Amino acid sequence: MMQYDYGLFVIGAGSGGVRAANMASGYGVKVAIAEQRYLGGTCVNVGCVPKKLFFYAAQFQDQFDAAAGFGWTVGESTFNWTSLIANKNREIARLQALYNNRLQQSGATVITGRAQVLDGHTVAVDGKQYSAERILIATGGWPFIPDIPGKQHIVTSNDMFFLDQLPKQIIIAGGGYIAVEFASILHGLGVNTTICHRGHKLLSGFDEDIRDFLGEEMTRKGITIRFNTDIEAIESKGEAFAVQLMDGSEVSTDLVMYATGRTPNSSGFGLEKLGIGLDNEQAIKVNSDYQTNVPSIYALGDVTNRVNLTPVAIAEGMTLVNKLYTIHAQPVDYDNIPTAVFSQPAIGTVGLTEAKAREKFPDIDIYKTRFTPMKSALSGLDEKTLMKMIVVRSTDQVVGLHMIGPDAPEIIQGMAVAIRAGATKAVFDSTIGIHPTAAEEFVTLRNVVT
Ligand code: NDP
Repeated sequence: MMQYDYGLFVIGAGSGGVRAANMASGYGVKVAIAEQRYLGGTCVNVGCVPKKLFFYAAQFQDQFDAAAGFGWTVGESTFNWTSLIANKNREIARLQALYNNRLQQSGATVITGRAQVLDGHTVAVDGKQYSAERILIATGGWPFIPDIPGKQHIVTSNDMFFLDQLPKQIIIAGGGYIAVEFASILHGLGVNTTICHRGHKLLSGFDEDIRDFLGEEMTRKGITIRFNTDIEAIESKGEAFAVQLMDGSEVSTDLVMYATGRTPNSSGFGLEKLGIGLDNEQAIKVNSDYQTNVPSIYALGDVTNRVNLTPVAIAEGMTLVNKLYTIHAQPVDYDNIPTAVFSQPAIGTVGLTEAKAREKFPDIDIYKTRFTPMKSALSGLDEKTLMKMIVVRSTDQVVGLHMIGPDAPEIIQGMAVAIRAGATKAVFDSTIGIHPTAAEEFVTLRNVVT
């Protein structure tokens, strides 16, 4: 039998790659993991983790404003961006060290550098070659910027985490997850924020009620949203930028950020030469076993552009390793994946949107509630919450839950377990609420609205 340097060679130390490497090592496989940039990948360095820290930072002004209603006198407050960035960097460095320690402890070899796949069993990193029985590509994605005049002036979410100073005003192109999250963060930190989105609503693919509510609430909070237009060109004008829009108008701003999707990181490391199948969006094509058309090469996570979420990449990593090295592999179930958007107000959702449910089932009941959270009674903050439940009348099964308002991501994570367990509306109705909470509304929805 052919002897390889490694049983598994993982390229990319993001969420999916690291989980696969640690688990395979734990099963006694000799593992190497190559990373060219930073341990932890997008999520730890320029994604979920620093974004959530910024999300917290952006909420303090509202809390200070709310405090008086509860009897507090808050002194003058100022915000220091440099200090937030330094503290965030320290936390990310701690997480990177944790990732490194875990990999070392599991017995995996961490190799720093850019990997090239030379053939189905050979990887080179900085000129040194390694043979491997199997290769796993988990290289994630990278922000996509359309080709427009002035493209060189654009920053992406990657850059936003390291800005030297906070701009006074910003234009954000796009209407997806990253655009609405960053718009909410920057507005919360006092930046005059404009979203410029080619569509007529934010967050394509989300439930229409949630999309409408988010657009209304962001606008009410003071974010300018320009729908149905796109940026045509950007010109540098001294310290500022002149941004020409497709609708013929021109806007001046300090910074232009693009959040127009992400492209799979599948090029420039040898896959083309090997004839690895890619789709039209450059995603690596894999079968249900995460195997590419070269049988010893596997791929998972954002580079396969299926469900681009950290917990999904982690689940895929675990499933793949279990498939390869154990007899008990639980396939990833891609139905009812809960997701959250850390906008302001935040969103949590699981299951089908109303539109998708109506396509799939002839008899849908919709339950909805819109209310002012209790905290607003004294805070003076004009916050609102919307909750929506989608039920198949004939089976009573709850097939979708959507929430926008304070704590929505935390609440929906718990609800997702019920949805995955196939809970009926009757099960929700017979669950005793926790009073007083917002979440209890999900077990006290009585009236069908449509
Ligand atoms: P999204 O796919 O969510 O949104 C992209 C946005 O850009 C859409 O509004 C889209 O418009 C618009 N767009 C795309 N191409 C162009 C173009 N050429 N010109 C103008 N507008 C364009 O991508 P994001 O970059 O926001 O995020 C990438 C992915 O990262 C997400 O899909 C998600 O999977 C993941 N993510 C998850 C988070 C979470 O779980 N909280 C947070 C952040 C990211 P249209 O709708 O018309 O197509």
